[in-house]
Amino acid sequence: MTRRLTGFQPTGNLHLGNLLGAMRPLVAAQDDPATTDSIAMIADLHALTVEHDPARLRANTVEVATLLLAAGVDPARTALIANSQVPEHAELHYLLECAAGFGEAARMIQFKEKSACGGPVRLSLLTYPVLMASDILVHDTDHVPVGDDQSQHLELARTLATRFNGRYGETFAVPEAIRPDAAERIMDLADPTRKMSKSSPNPAGRIGLLDPPDVIRRKVARAVTDTVGVVRHDRENQPGVTNLLEILRACTGAQPRTLTSYGELKREVTDAIEAVLTPIRARFAELSEDPGHVRKILADGRARVRPRAEETVRRARAAIGLLD
Ligand code: ATP
Ligand code: MG
Repeated sequence: MTRRLTGFQPTGNLHLGNLLGAMRPLVAAQDDPATTDSIAMIADLHALTVEHDPARLRANTVEVATLLLAAGVDPARTALIANSQVPEHAELHYLLECAAGFGEAARMIQFKEKSACGGPVRLSLLTYPVLMASDILVHDTDHVPVGDDQSQHLELARTLATRFNGRYGETFAVPEAIRPDAAERIMDLADPTRKMSKSSPNPAGRIGLLDPPDVIRRKVARAVTDTVGVVRHDRENQPGVTNLLEILRACTGAQPRTLTSYGELKREVTDAIEAVLTPIRARFAELSEDPGHVRKILADGRARVRPRAEETVRRARAAIGLLD
């Protein structure tokens, strides 16, 4: 039996990259008999590491939860939680900070990049990867799907678990990264050399899961291609066209047929995205009529994971020398 944890930051609107790269694999794993007891975590504590608006954060957290459910997360098989609602995440975070070095945190590429953007830097941005380690370790997670952007953080989680176990005795399971298929890294439509991101300033490159059909059509129509004029898979020389082909393959689940023009490719991509998003949008609208129901699912998720999280924290407290 393996337990998998997938995290989503409620920092903005979820996009097609999140769906194809993270939400779909999470939903597919629900049918894998080897993976049980998985967790879909909304990392609302992580969203506090950068400038934020409280009302917006609350709304985004509910929206992300609702979209996860709309995309097929089944609360009977996957515990849906917000990390702020399981206080053991924050408690273990502190204990792990006492096993982590300042230099180790300051070396993280994401910290360097985000702290160099100008404006005040929150201390929590520095300690973010330690909180992420806590998110993972507190649930005895075996597998964490991570993209390139998170692999250094996952490595730190492994280092901290191993170091803690070595110094204080066997306490944590050491998690493993599972890499998404390279094809499942969806790139920005306006700049296909960068991944599609919630935090990218240009919304034209990002297909929001709740974007209306005409907006999607426009974004795909304006997607950057090239002057080669041939529809083929060539990430190096034709990153825009290759990204559209990848989106098409991921949305339809089949290798695209031979396409003769960029116009034809873009029409097929638009239709394929529409076919994937229409049922999600419909389900989202239904679920949104009863936000209390979504809150109840989060409360149930918390109740389900807490006994195990409490047990992990109890082990860590005892090992590090705190009174029970
Ligand atoms: P941010 O810009 O705020 O970091 P993000 O778009 O990177 O937002 P996250 O909340 O960091 O989204 O990631 C949620 C999940 O989606 C993670 O599992 C991440 O690996 C995956 N993911 C993010 N962007 C992409 C993408 N472009 N293609 C495929 N998977 C992605
Ligand atoms: Mg990210």
